[in-house]
Amino acid sequence: MELFWEPLRQRVCAKCIDGDGKGNCRLPQGEACALEAFLPELVTIVSTVKADSYQKYVEALRASICTQCDHQVDGKCNKRETLECALDRYFPVVLDVIETVKDELQKDGTIETTKV
Ligand code: SF4
Ligand code: SF4
Repeated sequence: MELFWEPLRQRVCAKCIDGDGKGNCRLPQGEACALEAFLPELVTIVSTVKADSYQKYVEALRASICTQCDHQVDGKCNKRETLECALDRYFPVVLDVIETVKDELQKDGTIETTKV
């Protein structure tokens, strides 16, 4: 996952309002960022969901990640509603970074198309 995390840190964390502007996270200790916590699931979404629209990726996010996140209760998430979830806030950029890295890794043979 490190291959995905570093580019995410550079493009998402560096711009995140919860970061220090240099890619380091400033969330309070004990608070986990969903982007980091669910990175493997995110890579799986990008690899397996053949979405023809952004909305389909959002649906996949809700179905496979938000349902197992502690912050969602009865289908509702306060963090989402108050824009406090960095994963939700930056989801379009997150998708773009993961897609780009995945394509590059497949091109240079680091990963097999079928695996990621
Ligand atoms: S909250 Fe998440 S996206 Fe924002 S800086 Fe921290 S780890 Fe990165
Ligand atoms: S939107 Fe809410 S439920 Fe979904 S990952 Fe973020 S904090 Fe968790």
